[in-house]
Amino acid sequence: MTATMPEQSRIKRLEAALACPRCHQPLSEPLTCLTCDEQGRLEGERVHFGGFTETALRDDPLNRLKEAAKQRLGRLYPLAIDALSPVLDRNFVKPFLASFDLDRDLVADLGSGTNRYDERVLCFDGGTYANIDLVCDLRTLPISDNALSGVVSVAVLEHVADPQAHVAEMHRVLAPGGRVLCFVPFMQPFHASPHDYQRYTQAGLATLFNQFEVLSVEVGAGPTSSLIWVLQEWLAMVLSFGSRRLYRALVPLMWILSPLKLLDLLLARHPAAPILASGFVVEARKRGE
Ligand SMILES: [Zn+2]
Repeated sequence: MTATMPEQSRIKRLEAALACPRCHQPLSEPLTCLTCDEQGRLEGERVHFGGFTETALRDDPLNRLKEAAKQRLGRLYPLAIDALSPVLDRNFVKPFLASFDLDRDLVADLGSGTNRYDERVLCFDGGTYANIDLVCDLRTLPISDNALSGVVSVAVLEHVADPQAHVAEMHRVLAPGGRVLCFVPFMQPFHASPHDYQRYTQAGLATLFNQFEVLSVEVGAGPTSSLIWVLQEWLAMVLSFGSRRLYRALVPLMWILSPLKLLDLLLARHPAAPILASGFVVEARKRGE
């Protein structure tokens, strides 16, 4: 425990973990790799190493709305999503974070969006939001090998074109014995952010993390969440009579059905829940130590 020591600022802890996103060697001042010609920049308390382009974020109409809401609502955005979303996820992140000593262990949320679970957790994202500590491409993290004790990734992997590369990066930046917690959807409609590429079954998720020691793969969000989201999209389609504009106007009205997700407080525990789960959560540990 280092409780008696003055708490180091988040940006200082991040800076100590930074490395070249290509060769993973330490950076020279100012945030430059002399070998690879890679350069980051510091803006206030935030480090930038690439990230999403403006065109990528504006490609999909729903994502345009989401980005505007994220920029406007900031930290209220995750609360709004919690209230309106058809998905009730089981409270898996809190217990995971509680298993670390966050004053000492460096834990990063990869693809945090505007959410921050704890002031001591680092927020990485491809988008630039007020809470982000590091703006970067999640597939090529500007973080040195074995630098992190923990990694959180919630509803991000489906948005990464090359999930294997992203998982390999999680493995590289984790110290031996370090742990990752990752939620990915199984039965969820298409949702770009800024893109959407894949879904995973329980076995598929375990296989994706097979370079780790997989500790558990559990239902992260239950069957009712799956059903409601599909029903909302289906109703908006049926009632819009082929009009794309009407469909888009109807989708938010369907959120009135979202509170039914509370049924998952029971159904997510059903033995058959993995068959229709909205998503799975894997906890895995990097071997060694
Ligand atoms: Zn380099």
